[in-house]
Amino acid sequence: MGGSASTIAPGATIGILGGGQLGRMIAQAAARLGYRCHIYCPETDSPAAQVASRHTIGGLEDETRLREFAAAVDVVTYEFENIPAGPVEILAEIVPVRPNARALRVAQDRMEEKRFAATLGIATAPWLPVRSEAEAQAAIATIGRPAMLKTARLGYDGKGQVKIGAGEDATAAWRGLGGAPCVLEGFVDFAMEISVIVARGLDGAMLAYPAVENRHKNGILDVTIAPADLAPAIAAAARDAALRLTQALDIVGLLAVEMFVARDGGVLVNEMAPRPHNSGHWTLDACATSQFEQLVRAICGLKLGGVDVLCPAIMQNLIGAEVEHWRAAIEDPRAKLHLYGKTAARPGRKMGHVTRLLRP
Ligand code: AMP
Repeated sequence: MGGSASTIAPGATIGILGGGQLGRMIAQAAARLGYRCHIYCPETDSPAAQVASRHTIGGLEDETRLREFAAAVDVVTYEFENIPAGPVEILAEIVPVRPNARALRVAQDRMEEKRFAATLGIATAPWLPVRSEAEAQAAIATIGRPAMLKTARLGYDGKGQVKIGAGEDATAAWRGLGGAPCVLEGFVDFAMEISVIVARGLDGAMLAYPAVENRHKNGILDVTIAPADLAPAIAAAARDAALRLTQALDIVGLLAVEMFVARDGGVLVNEMAPRPHNSGHWTLDACATSQFEQLVRAICGLKLGGVDVLCPAIMQNLIGAEVEHWRAAIEDPRAKLHLYGKTAARPGRKMGHVTRLLRP
């Protein structure tokens, strides 16, 4: 369909590593623009594969399948960041992988993430590495209580982390996390949790969605309020940090940056993800371009879409048994219901979400 040499035009096939709801919503946005998607994941019936044109069932250790997958697609992206360097290198020999391998490496390790933010002068909660009992003791003595001990890798939705309160032992907490490499963070008495999602195109152009407020329940995102009700200077600081991280990581695609707003108005980066993010789901219904379409545009070398907010909105996750709220959502004229096609509503599992448009 024409376009510049670096454009991957509609009709091409986007490869997606991972078969969850983020992959599903990428595939839906891609289909609307005339692309095909090919999902690579180990599960047989995954939310993404249900809506994609092709599916390879395979693990990240299966080099042969990975090579076949890479040869069958025009670009590869991913919907989770815990992808080892090996498979990414195999894919990248054959086809562009966007965002790049370095962004993945930094975002999958909390120590790397915090060190990277520090190189840009971007603040995080005070932290120290914990890789031994001696380091656990030294870290708690310096950071103080309460503190959060988090595994450096493979944590998500509040898993792999524990709060260390008054009188609680850091060494026991570290052993409780399996003795894996951890970070000990000072507990932030935050006024608000927010996130900013930045899109960056192949040409380096960047657009940031407005900061949104995130409320968590049991360590899992419960509600996103878009946009966040922030003083302009705080919103600008959050946006600036997210843009600088995106630029410095040379992202082509999306970078979602989660932050704490401290009681004194300071903005502290908590973590980042080089992919669509749960706190950006509201953009599907209340923004000129959804985060998923924006990712497709970016990785295919197209101009980014507008990020104007069409209507303030509240996104509510449907976690586990909450999926039954779909019945009420269907009855509500302001509610936009999204279900992910998962059959078992296990506790803590993200089954769907509802976005309510806050028109006056
Ligand atoms: P995370 O996996 O780092 O996003 O942490 C999950 C949730 O735990 C965050 O969204 C916060 O609500 C809470 N949390 C994590 N780290 C801290 C911290 N250093 N201080 C206070 N709350 C935290």
